[in-house]
This record gives sequence, structure tokens and C-alpha cells, in this order.
Amino acid sequence: MELQYIHGTKITAEIKKGAQMHEELEEETNVPIVLMPKSYADVMYKILYTSAEALETLFKNKKSREIQIYGFLNGFPLVGKMDQLEIKDGEVFVWEDKTKANDNLPNEPQLNTHKIQVMIYRKMLDDIRKKAYTLDQFRKKYGILTLRVTEQFSRQLDALNMDKGMQTVDSVAQRYFDLLSRIENLSEILHIRYINQFTGKEIKIYRFTYDEKEMQGALDFVLKYWRGERESLPVPETEKWKCNYCGFFGKECTVWWPQKSL
Ligand code: SF4
Repeated sequence: MELQYIHGTKITAEIKKGAQMHEELEEETNVPIVLMPKSYADVMYKILYTSAEALETLFKNKKSREIQIYGFLNGFPLVGKMDQLEIKDGEVFVWEDKTKANDNLPNEPQLNTHKIQVMIYRKMLDDIRKKAYTLDQFRKKYGILTLRVTEQFSRQLDALNMDKGMQTVDSVAQRYFDLLSRIENLSEILHIRYINQFTGKEIKIYRFTYDEKEMQGALDFVLKYWRGERESLPVPETEKWKCNYCGFFGKECTVWWPQKSL
């Protein structure tokens, strides 16, 4: 993450393939939305509108994908995108999809990182439902009330027959928060599905229970970096296989490079 901030994001072949798989899965459930944003306000509008439409799909078809989620945890604003929400027996379940370049099961550190990610999504979703994170907090954080979409973007919304009253970022933010607060029962059971990015084969689904203590423990360690209380760390030696998929390996980061040929 730190190297990304310093040198810019490196898009590897694995990242591209993973993104393509997510797009294909989204097309299976969600109504496609084509909007070309021109400014920060347009981007915020598009994100909130797309997520609101995905939530309508959830209530209608019991399954939906790619829903943006906002929150505030341990003093930090957070944003993420939930891969899938599904309604079963009256409960809403959070799912996360991870793609792999082979059929091997994820190892423990990999699975633990992914578990924390899904637990954080569930916590953010729960906070909005319970009004622990409110529309007003969101408005203040992202300057929503000051945002105006561009004229070009407004013409695109006209083409979608969007009512003028619904063409403000605040109106779509209200709709998004209203829809999220309609989720009545949020399950404590979470799912991670591993998929082979080349064959599309499902490798394994992990089911586990939300554990606030475990999540907070991981957050405390991670946030020490963001508070400036510790330096960033390279992956430990037991996880140096990750370096083979990292765009910085052997260039900006040489921590494990000398060992590559061993
Ligand atoms: S090369 Fe390895 S240690 Fe260095 S940034 Fe990438 S994953 Fe981390």
C-alpha cells in the first residue's frame, strides 16, 4: 500500500484477470448502467446510483453484486465494495469472491486477511442499518451537500429519464442510505468463495461467523501504521510467495528478491 502511494498502482496480469472475473459475475445479476462521469461529483453520483440500483435488485431478486459501502471505524473513514449480498430465509448474507491463478486452497494468512475484510464490510453495513454511521456523517465527510454534477453528466441522466429532483448527489445519497437501512436481518454468517480466474471453477467456499474481537485485534495492528505509530512491513518470510504476484518485486522492493533464485 505504501509503495502504491509512492510509485503509483501497478496493475499485474493477476489483478486484470481478477477484475474481469468480477465484471462477468456482476453482469449475471445486476442491470448494466452506462454513465460517464466527468468530475468528482459525477463519480460520487455514479457510485451511489449504481449501488442503490444494486440494492433494489437485491430486494427484488434476492441477490446482487458490487455494492459500495462507507463507514467510520476506530477514528478512520473507510470505504469498500461488497462483492455480493444475498437474501436467504429472511436474512442478508455478505459474500466475498477471491480469484486465484490455480486450484490450490488459500493458505492461512491469506484466508485470515480475507476474513478480516469481510468482517469489516459486515460491520460497516451493520453500522449504517443501526444508524451508528449516518447520512449526515457521510455528507460531512465527502462534502455531499456542496457537490453539483456537470452539465454533460446531467444530460446523460436526462437520457435515462431521471427526474431532475433525483439528479443531485444528495438525493441519490439519501436513496442509498434509505435502501441500506431497509435491511432488517443481517446474518452473522459470512462467506468467502475462491474461484480459479482462468477456468471460472469454484475452488472452495468458506463459511465463518462474524467475530468482533478478532476483527478489532487486526484493526488495532493495522491502524498503528496509519496513526504513524509503526513503519510499514514487508510480508514475513513464510508469505514471501506473495511477492511473485507483486508489481514492485525486484524493482521498488527487494526485501525478498535475493532469495528468489534459491
Ligand atoms: S515484493 Fe513482497 S515484500 Fe515487497 S511489497 Fe511486494 S509483496 Fe511486499
